[in-house]
This record gives sequence, structure tokens and C-alpha cells, in this order.
Amino acid sequence: MLTQTLGFPRIGANRELKKACELYWKGKISQDELELAGKNERIKNWTIQKDAGIDLIPSNDFSYYDQVADMMFMLGVVPERFRKFENRLSKIDLYFAMCRGYQHENIDVTPLEMTKWFNTNYHYLVPEFEKKQSFSLSPEKVVGEFREALQSGIKTKPVLLGPLSFLKLGKEKTENFNRLELIHILLPVYIELIGKLENAGATWIQIDEPCLTTCTNDYERQLYRSTLTELFGSFPGIRFVLATYFESVSKVADLISLLPLEVIHLDLVSAPEQLDVFLDMVPDNMSVSLGIVDGRNVWKNNLEDSLGVIKKAVSRLGRDRVILSPSCSLLHVPYDLKNEDGREGLPIKVKERMAFAFQKIEELAILKDLSGISPTTGAVSKLEREKRERENWEKLPFVADEQVRKRLDEINHLKHNVSRGLPFEQRRAIQQEKLQLPLFPTTMIGSLPQTAEVRKTRCSFFNNKTSWEEYDNFIKECIRKAIRWQEELGIDVLVHGEFERNDMVEFFGEQLNGFAFTQNGWVQSYGSRAVKPPVIYGDVSRKGPVTVDIARYAQSLTDKPVKGMLTGPVTILQWSFVRTDQPRKETAGQIALAIHDEVLDLEKAGISIIQIDEPAFREGLPLKQEKWDEYLTWAVFCFMISSYGVKNETQIHTHMCYAEFNDIIPAIIAMDADVISIETSRSQMELLNAFTRVRYPNQIGPGVYDIHSPRVPGTGEMCDLLFAASRYIPVKNLWVNPDCGLKTRGWDETRSAIKNMTESAKRMRDVILHAEN
Ligand code: GLN
Ligand code: ZN
Repeated sequence: MLTQTLGFPRIGANRELKKACELYWKGKISQDELELAGKNERIKNWTIQKDAGIDLIPSNDFSYYDQVADMMFMLGVVPERFRKFENRLSKIDLYFAMCRGYQHENIDVTPLEMTKWFNTNYHYLVPEFEKKQSFSLSPEKVVGEFREALQSGIKTKPVLLGPLSFLKLGKEKTENFNRLELIHILLPVYIELIGKLENAGATWIQIDEPCLTTCTNDYERQLYRSTLTELFGSFPGIRFVLATYFESVSKVADLISLLPLEVIHLDLVSAPEQLDVFLDMVPDNMSVSLGIVDGRNVWKNNLEDSLGVIKKAVSRLGRDRVILSPSCSLLHVPYDLKNEDGREGLPIKVKERMAFAFQKIEELAILKDLSGISPTTGAVSKLEREKRERENWEKLPFVADEQVRKRLDEINHLKHNVSRGLPFEQRRAIQQEKLQLPLFPTTMIGSLPQTAEVRKTRCSFFNNKTSWEEYDNFIKECIRKAIRWQEELGIDVLVHGEFERNDMVEFFGEQLNGFAFTQNGWVQSYGSRAVKPPVIYGDVSRKGPVTVDIARYAQSLTDKPVKGMLTGPVTILQWSFVRTDQPRKETAGQIALAIHDEVLDLEKAGISIIQIDEPAFREGLPLKQEKWDEYLTWAVFCFMISSYGVKNETQIHTHMCYAEFNDIIPAIIAMDADVISIETSRSQMELLNAFTRVRYPNQIGPGVYDIHSPRVPGTGEMCDLLFAASRYIPVKNLWVNPDCGLKTRGWDETRSAIKNMTESAKRMRDVILHAEN
């Protein structure tokens, strides 16, 4: 029986790689220094896994920015707008230009589109394919990392995103062709690549085909079958692991069982029911990798249950054909629980029930030990201890809150009654009467640049080095400046800037019962950005008003409306590590009630526009379409719970970003927010295509400024985007805003961009007036 992992976190246990990348981008360290930092992280990861007793340790799971961008680079999928700088930029700079854009010394290029990796909060860069696409191999990274590990005595299992998932995750940039057809010229390049790995000494290779989970039509089935048969069949000397995750692949079990394949990996956390199908079907020469340790959540493994699963698989396949594994790459969990001292924010009882990446690989070793013929006493006592803690947990008083449960029950019965008072068009008139906004109103998404000074002061307040009074004054000063700044730039609907917030979920979680916080539980979100998701362990309720004082203060500084800013229930759920002892929709409903209380308090405090952000709304969508309705129904319902009961004159906004929205427009319409701001600029307003089919009835601000890139868009460019938008949306419904919050940007670049943005709104108004005259 072997153990394996499919991938390991890579930002560094203390975010070493993040820091190195950011220094490199600022020109403060050299390429050599950056590469050394990368190498250090790789060696640490391999060594840790080796020491924990993992048998198949991955390589090429490392990345300086994103593993899909790495594949693009490796396979020569470098769009022309970047390729033309090949001679002027070093390889790594060209790679970073694809990831984050480049605006420097007469080079000005926008980055690749970025979107969420399946239903996670990890973002990947979207490959662009053309009809005349060609591929060419640059194997240096993957072969180099394999050799590097070999030199330190570890023979790894290189990981590659499979050819069909690679194509499926991308999009066509020219019309009238299907990118899947490119497989015929892509496959030979994969074969060439694997040949190089074989020459370097690789004997195990992992091919990730997560898109197999959504393979339904015959054309795709046929394509998967022929492609993978040829790929695996070309290398009789290599043992392939075909990795699937995040959903069941039982519908293609017949196809998989016919492949010349050594190991099929199954995610038994997302889809435990698929095991039986495979146990009945796998041929004698195929092993099954049991993804039983949750690679996406921080709770300890239920060792007893896992042993049951292992036992069942062993009885059917024999020990030699069973591999133990996390459900997916451990990229989605933090490094090490030992970095938590359990004092602040993380009650010891909660910590006791948790496991991060390091603990998860230990769990694999324990499970392997326990399923052997004579388990060690150490492993047995760990099994007993886990069981004892689990049973005690269920009896702990801080988990359940009867009052919250009763309230949610009541609202669940009201289902039909959480909609706004009047229909949108009537609300619009009442709101406009009060707000008197111009055509193409301009606004911001929420956060404004968080400078080092802001972060330092917040840190020093949390470490008790700055008094509350001093901190409060500092934040108020930031807000004052932010309001002036926006007034000078001519913004119509202002924001206070969110300077008091470390993170939009953590900030609310801190004021809610049932939430715990780690000190070091960082998880990569995109590139060098990491998030620290809160842990929801018990029933949720609000401790008291969260944003009311600050909103009231900000509004007192100006005659223009200042938005009250809240994070929505689905996003709070989605960006936390959630308890697994009750359905997610119950937890979301409890959070929705807490946000609802906050919305009403803001309204009472005289705030006339309230934004409830739902950037993670799409992310919770199940991969399988047959499960969409159920999710969308409760997710929309939770948003409606948050905003119900407000007056018609109160304008409710929401915001969404960095996902494919086209297929959930009806649900977005059902949320009935008066205004939605939505990211669109990286995809050149492609989103709005969906509106040719379904009319969006309320107001909408399609983002015109890509805030994930340091480049400053020009006024003309933004007007082009607005013109494109006005083809799909009546101008009276259009707002002008950036794609997302500006927290990660600097003040200078932001000022230029926002100046261009308000200028573009003015130009649009002139054009419309002109047309009307
Ligand atoms: N209001 C938030 C901000 O501006 C929204 C962030 C997000 O969508 N991720 O920071
Ligand atoms: Zn956003």
C-alpha cells in the first residue's frame, strides 16, 4: 500500500515565496535570488513529505504564479501580444507579463484573463487559443525540478495538467473553431514532454484531468478515450496516475477502466459514492487512489471512517492496489497547525480538531500504519485520541445556539416573503428622487489602497502597541482623506475605503459568534496573494453592530452618498473553512441573518446605499449541472434574507468578480439588487454577451479598470468598454466603476486610473446628450 499527495502548498510556510516575488517585481532582488527562494521552498516541501513517509511525492506542483500559466509557457501557448516582446524581456519577465501585465519602457501589455479554479478561491490564468494555434515544447521547468529533487535524493512524481483539461480550461480567441480540435497537434507535444521526463529517470507521472468530472457528451468521451489511450500507451515504462478531483467521475468509469493506466485517483471527500462504482469496474492491473483526507478543509480526518473505506477497498483489490491520498492537491489548505499557538482567536478545543497540510500527510502515514497487519501502538493511540476528541466535540456547549436555529427556521418558512417591497422600476424612481445621480454614475467597489502605513498601524493596534483612541483617529484620518480624494476626482457615489479591514471576510467574522481565526493559516488565492480564511465551527450570530459607526462617520463628511459596505453571506461562507456537521446552506442562512441585522442598523443610521458584496457567489456553484438549481436557490435566498425589510428608497448594491457569470444570470437577476458591479474588463466585456440572450433588468456597473494589474488604462480604452457595454444594456442602467476593490494598488497609479475613469464617464454623458439633441 502506497501513500501519495497530488500537490503541496507553495507560497512558503511563512509566505517566503510571496515575499520574494514581490521584491523581484519591485526590482529589489535579482532573478537569481528569486530562483533561490523558489528552490528553497521546493526542497523544504519534498523533504517534509519524505520525512512523513509519503511514497509518491509530486514535483512541478511548484509555481511562481500559477500552474496553468506554467503549462502555457511549457507548451508554447504564448499569445502574440506577449510573444512580440520575447527579445526584449527575459523568460521569467515574459511569464510574469502574461500573469500580471507589463507597463514599462514603451511596453504596455494587458495580462491574460484570470478566473476561479473550479469551485475554489484559487485563480488561474486562462489559456488563449487561436484557430492557427501551434505548440512547441519548453520542458526546462518540469524536467529541471525533477532533476533538482533527484539531486537531493528524492525521486518525484512529476505532475502535469492533462491535455484535455488544459484545452477545456482555456478559451478561443478567434471565431469558428473548437479548441478541443487542437488536441491532435497538442498531444504529440505532451508525448515529447513525457519522453524527456522518462529520459531524466521519471517512473511515475501524474496527469490531472479534473475536467473529466464534467465530461458528458459522446464527442468528449471519445476524445478522452483516444487521447489518454495514446498518451499512456506510448510509455509502457511509466506508471501513470490519472488524477480527478472536486467531483465524481463515476459516469466515465467504463471509459477509465479501459485505459492503459496504473492508478486512478478519486476524490472521496467530494464524491464518496463513486468508490463502489470503481471497485466493481477497475481491471486487475489498475490501482485505486483513495482521496480520503480532505484537501480543502481544515478538519481532522475521521480515522475510523477512513479505515472502513480502506478496508472495503483492500478486501476487493488487495493491499497492493490501494493508494492513500488527500482528496485533491493540498494547495487549498494552510501549511502547519504547529504555527498556531492557540492563544488568539483559535480556542484550544477548536484547534484540537484541526489539521493543515503537514498534519494531513501525517494522517496518511497513520492510516497506512493502522491498516497494516500489526499497527504500531503510536498509531493506535492516535486513532483512539481522535475518536475521543470527536465524540467530546459533539457535546461541547459552544457549538449550538438554539435561538439562532429557531430564527432560521422561522425565516425558512417565510420563503416567499423575503423580496423587496416594490418592484425594481418603482424603487428606481424613488431612489433617484432621493439620490439625484447623473447618467453613468461613477463609484468605487469599496477598498482604497492599503499602504504599508495602514497595515503597520493596524498591526500595532492588534499587538496592543497602539491605543484604541490613536488607532481610531488614524482610521478616521484615512477616511477623511479618502472622501476628499474621491470628491476631487468627481466620484458620484463614494466609499469610505475599508482601511479598518484586514480582509473582507475576517473583519466580519471577528464580530460574529461561531468563528475562529488562525494566525498563519494562509492559502494562495492568486499569484503572490494569499488569504487567511476564518474557521466556522459553531452557530453564527452577530455580537453587535459591525460597520455602523464608521459608515455614519464617513457619511458625515460629505453631501454625496457614501455606501455602507458589507460582505454577503455566501461569500463569508465560501471564503471560510466551514464546519461539516451541518449542511452548508444552514450555516449560510445563519450568516445571512447576521448580515440582515447589520443592513437594518445601517439604514437606521441614515445610510442610503448599502452594498452587499458577493464576489464568491459563483464559486460555490457545484461542478455538476444537475446540482446547480439546489445551490442557486439557497444562495439567492440567503442574499435576499440579508436585504429584506429595507425601505424602497434604500439602494442595495452587490458586487461580483473573477468568475464565469454567463450561465448564472437568471440567479443574479433573482437576487434583485438595485445595482450590481461586476468584473468584465480583462475579458473585454465578454460577459455582456450573455445579455443578448437574457435582459438584465436592474442597473449594472461593468468594471472598466482591471485592478489586478498595475497598468493604468486610458480614457479612450475605458470609453471603448462602455460603448461595448451600451450595446447590450440601456445607458440609463449603466454605472462606471473599477473591476474590484483597490486595496492592493498604490495611490499614484490609482489616481491616474480613476481620473481617466471619471473622464470617460463625462465623455459618455456628452456623447449621449449630443445624440439626444
Ligand atoms: N468591497 C470589497 C473591496 O473593495 C470587494 C472585494 C472583492 O470583491 N473581492 O475590497
Ligand atoms: Zn471584486
